[in-house]
Amino acid sequence: MAEQRIPFVKVELDDSDIAAVERVLRSGWLTTAGQVKALEEELAAYTGAPFVNAVNSATAAMHLALAAWDLGPGDEVITTPYTFTATANVVIHCGATPVLVDVREADANIDPELIERAITPRTRVILPVHIAGEPCDMDAIMDIARRHGLKVLEDAAHAIGTLYRGRPIGSISDAAAFSFYANKTITTGEGGALATADEQLSARVRRLTLHGMSKDAWNRYDAGGSWRYDIQEFGFKDNLTDIAAALGRSQLARLESFIEARTRVAQRYFANLRDEEHLILPAFNEEHRQPWHLFMVRVRESAPVPRDEVIRQLAARGIGTSVHFIPLHYHTAYQKLGRWKQGDFPVAERFFAGEISLPMYPGLADTGVDDVCAALREILHP
Ligand SMILES: *Cc1c(COP(=O)(O)O)cnc(C)c1O
Repeated sequence: MAEQRIPFVKVELDDSDIAAVERVLRSGWLTTAGQVKALEEELAAYTGAPFVNAVNSATAAMHLALAAWDLGPGDEVITTPYTFTATANVVIHCGATPVLVDVREADANIDPELIERAITPRTRVILPVHIAGEPCDMDAIMDIARRHGLKVLEDAAHAIGTLYRGRPIGSISDAAAFSFYANKTITTGEGGALATADEQLSARVRRLTLHGMSKDAWNRYDAGGSWRYDIQEFGFKDNLTDIAAALGRSQLARLESFIEARTRVAQRYFANLRDEEHLILPAFNEEHRQPWHLFMVRVRESAPVPRDEVIRQLAARGIGTSVHFIPLHYHTAYQKLGRWKQGDFPVAERFFAGEISLPMYPGLADTGVDDVCAALREILHP
């Protein structure tokens, strides 16, 4: 394979990020303390959510929210097959049942009409995923949820910085889970956060995050802190470290500049590829702010070169790509559940069949974007 000239993703780290982590290392306090608390406060200010729980992944944030709502056997959670497996894994780990519905052709986000049709007396939660950072139709989803008495938990792994009709994701539904995984828009290496306006949810999530320990136990190593703690329920071990949180704070301070740079990259892709007959470019709604976590194009079915071959030829030219997402019901573990078969979700399946996520990161220069586009045009016109 050719040397990778243009990777799919490149972590945006500068001296300020490294210095922030170094300060924590030198402080001698590595695990959950002041940096985590400060990150939570800064995320609350950024997202407009009164309460934020920083944890060690978006997966943990979603799992903890569902656990805090006492989701269990017999309960149903409506989501889509067009997502990363974490979205549905956490439902299964609670003993509950994921109910999958198809997505919209334009943006691969959940189709609100199909949510309505999938509701049963057992439905407890709607779990929409903001694919690539383009927001789902939250007004419609919240309306359905209110009418049926359901909770809404957003998989906002791609959506830090998304504004839905001017409102930040994190301030709209019952809870939103952000990811700070290495390839996400801002990173802590591994990390995530749950944003909510529900103080009780946040408090229960806090307890479940650290073994189910009483609140005071979080401070048990502080001067004046007591050795005594109480296990009030059986929780998990999902806390974020101060090392990671310091990186998160430093990244969050730069998020707006990251989004500007990503928007520049997206605009250049649009300008370059607008007339490319064999591609479908990502749809976005001008009413929102899309932070461009991913730039997802689709190779048309009528194109002379199939998607997999386009990816192979891009790689041969040193250009990295990815595919988001392999629909959940294509995976072995989901097939073993025996509930879905190929053909059940035609829109998701069609979207996946042509999808390629192009290189997207703040440091991607205009010349890099131009190279990717020139390569794509050459490959698509053999
Ligand atoms: C990355 C991702 C997750 C998981 O995030 P982690 O922080 O790695 O747990 C969940 N959902 C989607 C859509 C993702 O892309």
